[in-house]
Amino acid sequence: MCSTASQQAETTYYGGCACGSVRFRMESAPLYVHCCHCRWCQRETGASFALNALIESERVRVLAGAPEVTATPSNSGKGQDIWRCPRCRVALWSNYAGFGDKVSFVRVGTLDEPDRISPDIHIFTESKQPWLVIPEDHSSVERYYDLKQYWPDSSRERLRQLHSAPES
Ligand SMILES: [Zn+2]
Ligand SMILES: [Zn+2]
Repeated sequence: MCSTASQQAETTYYGGCACGSVRFRMESAPLYVHCCHCRWCQRETGASFALNALIESERVRVLAGAPEVTATPSNSGKGQDIWRCPRCRVALWSNYAGFGDKVSFVRVGTLDEPDRISPDIHIFTESKQPWLVIPEDHSSVERYYDLKQYWPDSSRERLRQLHSAPES
């Protein structure tokens, strides 16, 4: 089956850093989108939460520049790799120990059209900022969640294929 150009355009997302050195493209819709209200994300972003689009790393294509990795402590204690622009240092995406290098957590705020992606779930709401009211129709959990209970079948299948693919 082939998809039309317009369908592809709908599921392609361009993004980049603040200085313009790094440009990238997400080549499909994300697997799932986390709005994380943990203290670590609050500190890293300097804001109230992080909005991360989880997607296969092979579907994040760097179009310009060369993001650099910074090892950063994480909530789990296992650390995360944050990929940043080498010039302006804006964080573009992360790899976490839990999902490994094959899944990237793209910072939705770095996309050119961030409004196109909204949270599938709010996590670590136990530490959300008190003024922030989560919409009633959004999934939310106090800490973390069981992927099998929340992810759509299509995303679980994509993850399964990713982990059954031979190492490149
Ligand atoms: Zn930059
Ligand atoms: Zn977090």
